[in-house]
Amino acid sequence: MDVNGVGIAAPQVYQPYRMFIVASHPNPRYPNAPEMKPIPVINPTIVSHSKNKIKDWEGCLSIPGIRGLIPRYQSIKVEFTNRNGKKEKREFSDFIARIFQHENDHLDGIVFLDRVENNKEIITDKEYQKLIAQTKKKITSDY
Ligand SMILES: [Zn+2]
Repeated sequence: MDVNGVGIAAPQVYQPYRMFIVASHPNPRYPNAPEMKPIPVINPTIVSHSKNKIKDWEGCLSIPGIRGLIPRYQSIKVEFTNRNGKKEKREFSDFIARIFQHENDHLDGIVFLDRVENNKEIITDKEYQKLIAQTKKKITSDY
């Protein structure tokens, strides 16, 4: 797994399984990512979701160098088999819900670029890093 990734799905490493790992942690690609214990997810189903979607920047280890502004449900209720072979029901919101939806899409052969609503909302990693730096500056000056 790429150390700068926050999730990886089996099809990305050419494994024909419906499974992925959600592993959020702050890193150069996502400096504001929350820290969490990695969750292995097997045969997931999104049971229900919030009405509202939130747009945020996403990238993908399988599509290097590009970012897209992608709408995702703000919160989701999911069911999956855990590492002990037991069914688990969980609720995720915000960034974790975003990773889950991104990785779940990989299982169906969908990548984030398929969900871009406007071509102007695709930028290079370089432009994204600039954007992040500006946001940080703004937050700092708001103290
Ligand atoms: Zn991906």
